[in-house]
Amino acid sequence: MTTAQKLTSQETIALEEKHGAHNYHPLPVVLKRGEGVYVWDIEDKQYYDFLSAYSAVNQGHCHPAIVGAMSKQAETLTLTSRAFHNDMLGKYEAYTTDYFQFDKLLPMNTGAEAVETAIKIARKWAYEKKGVPEHEAQIIVCENNFHGRTTTIISFSNDEGARKNFGPYTPGFIKIPYDDIDALKRALVENKNIAGFLVEPIQGEAGVFTPASDFLMKAKALCKANNTLFIADEIQTGIARTGALLAVCGNCTCKGHCERQETYSRPDILILGKALSGGAYPVSAVLADDDVMNVIKPGQHGSTFGGNPVASAVAMAALNVVKDEKLAQNARVLGELFRSKLNEYITESKIVNLVRGRGLLNAILINDTEDSSTAWDICMALKENGLLAKPTHGNIIRFAPPLVMTEDQLLDCVAIIVKTLKQFEK
Ligand SMILES: *Cc1c(COP(=O)(O)O)cnc(C)c1O
Repeated sequence: MTTAQKLTSQETIALEEKHGAHNYHPLPVVLKRGEGVYVWDIEDKQYYDFLSAYSAVNQGHCHPAIVGAMSKQAETLTLTSRAFHNDMLGKYEAYTTDYFQFDKLLPMNTGAEAVETAIKIARKWAYEKKGVPEHEAQIIVCENNFHGRTTTIISFSNDEGARKNFGPYTPGFIKIPYDDIDALKRALVENKNIAGFLVEPIQGEAGVFTPASDFLMKAKALCKANNTLFIADEIQTGIARTGALLAVCGNCTCKGHCERQETYSRPDILILGKALSGGAYPVSAVLADDDVMNVIKPGQHGSTFGGNPVASAVAMAALNVVKDEKLAQNARVLGELFRSKLNEYITESKIVNLVRGRGLLNAILINDTEDSSTAWDICMALKENGLLAKPTHGNIIRFAPPLVMTEDQLLDCVAIIVKTLKQFEK
């Protein structure tokens, strides 16, 4: 077997089945090329990508500015480790902290690593700044959260598939219902050792659950009143996906740079990943101000690849594309169009109950039981009709195309989705 050998989709899938661990259940499509909002399979069939690698490819597939920055840096210097300085990291940190308006950035690679980093920073802050007794720090999390796959992170998941038989679990987490401000208040009052509240501004993996419009503002205020860190996991929702630079920006349509706007629930710790690289390279980051970030001293946390020159160059290019091409504005406008078009259809549909979301992070709820195969069957039919999407939690289908989509392309996609759904109306 060489990489040059030509195989069919069937043959490629068979190789994975035989030689790969079975830790995913992908749609049976084998992609070989991507450009902008499109991907192509081995047989040269073209599709709209309506997953965008779980919102990593917000800037579109193989964006020339991002790929250009990556290949230029890859030919120059790829990795030094943090034992030495490299000439890109400082520039990247200066650019990104200015972009999001935080004092400091800690670079990692994957989203889960960044979440782990945020947990470690919050705990250390609790012991050294808040005065929590050793080993007593607690972090409040939400039911149905998704923050990644490490042993500690799955310890506070309530997804049985993600958790079962991976114990013993890491203690130190208190679970409350999502979007329940009273439960948060109770948890903060009942326990004096709370380091932070870790929350997704919209729960993506759970099925695009959007909380009440004032939930984040109130949560942030409660955290502040109780000397607790407000920690936003924006790995999926951040970087223009929901129609603002960050989902915690709320209705604020500036670039996430202001504190003036009353809707901005500024996190004490901001966690980014996925679209931070536009999908070109694994890049994640934790941002915070000095009073929080400075609890980490040399030797206390790190990563061989974190902050490498390729990652630094790629992330700067990826963030620049978001600003340059006004992707947040595009996501906001197209998101409203998408939901209004689908709502028109839903009024006469028996197979779809509702559409929900913000910006271009949306989902439809299929009118069938969670264990039915209807959502999967619809995704298979969408694939036949040239659009790739994936069910989440059985009867929910997430729709999250790259943000570089045009209005004409979006209307084309709506037509494909409506045509496909009609095949399933009884
Ligand atoms: C994808 C995701 C993660 C995990 O990121 P990985 O890069 O897969 O480790 C964490 N939190 C949220 C909200 C995510 O969507």
